[in-house]
Amino acid sequence: AKDANGGVYRRYNAELESTWQSRAFILHELETALAEGQFEIYYQPVIHARNGAISAEALVRWRHPERGVISPAEFLPVAERMGLIGKIDDFVFAQVCFQIRHWQDNGMGDIAVSINRSAQDFGNLTGRLDWVDYIQQHEIASHLLTLEITEGVLLQRSTETRNLLRHLRHFGVRISIDDFGTGYSSLAYLKQLEVDYLKIDKSFIRDLETDANDKAIIEAIIVMAKRLDIGIVAEGVETESQLRLLTELGCDWIQGFYYARPMACPDFEQFVRDWRKNVSL
Ligand code: C2E
Ligand code: CA
Ligand code: CA
Ligand code: CA
Repeated sequence: AKDANGGVYRRYNAELESTWQSRAFILHELETALAEGQFEIYYQPVIHARNGAISAEALVRWRHPERGVISPAEFLPVAERMGLIGKIDDFVFAQVCFQIRHWQDNGMGDIAVSINRSAQDFGNLTGRLDWVDYIQQHEIASHLLTLEITEGVLLQRSTETRNLLRHLRHFGVRISIDDFGTGYSSLAYLKQLEVDYLKIDKSFIRDLETDANDKAIIEAIIVMAKRLDIGIVAEGVETESQLRLLTELGCDWIQGFYYARPMACPDFEQFVRDWRKNVSL
């Protein structure tokens, strides 16, 4: 399989994870990767369908010295099982904070970035790196950070999780529900916990033009979200007709290969400059 940027993804985990010996090997490799800075953040544009505003989702990549760019689908499940996902997520968070600040200091202005957080590790968010402390210490504009979590996190129903999310949100960090519609779809949490965005999963977008059920579901999600004053993001938008349909249905934010694939930072910055130039014309 080819990755978003033409590099080749290796069948990595299945092959290597088959023995205890190789598990130890991967653990060693992942620790080396963290220590030697082999993880890199790619940015994928998220674009406001009507006003052209641009934001991004941060997506981690492993640039392995011999194996090339490895997709998160390949190594995150391994990292989760090895208990290393938290360290990777902390790295992503700190790096994104640095980047947001850097853009502000270097004339790129405000670019909001959303960050993924593994459900498996979510409970540790307080234990390890305190987002609020970090944001304050480094004077990061908290409203430019969005935390993407899956429905699974909310269904853990722990008071600690809920308090943590409230605390972050109170502090200005936005909360987004990722892969919306694929989880257990208990909507009760939308009432209890205030969230800022719902991301409609790409599985609903794929057959949007041909599958009347998918279209009906998306329509219903959008109507509900509007009523609750929650922003809508559609991910996995690949074609112009999907874009048109989603815009007609009232979807706010669009993310997908139609606009751009996830890109290394310099390419993303170039995309932003070009995009803004075109929008202001
Ligand atoms: P996700 O959060 O659902 O991220 C969206 C995925 O969809 C990304 O895959 C992105 O490249 C892909 N995508 C975007 N537009 C399109 C499109 O138009 N068509 C199709 N077919 N795909 C599209 P990616 O980058 O391989 O990431 C896979 C998953 O890995 C993410 O799914 C997320 O769950 C996880 N992930 C990525 N970065 C991080 C991270 O820093 N921390 C954690 N915990 N998880 C991460
Ligand atoms: Ca995501
Ligand atoms: Ca998603
Ligand atoms: Ca996902």
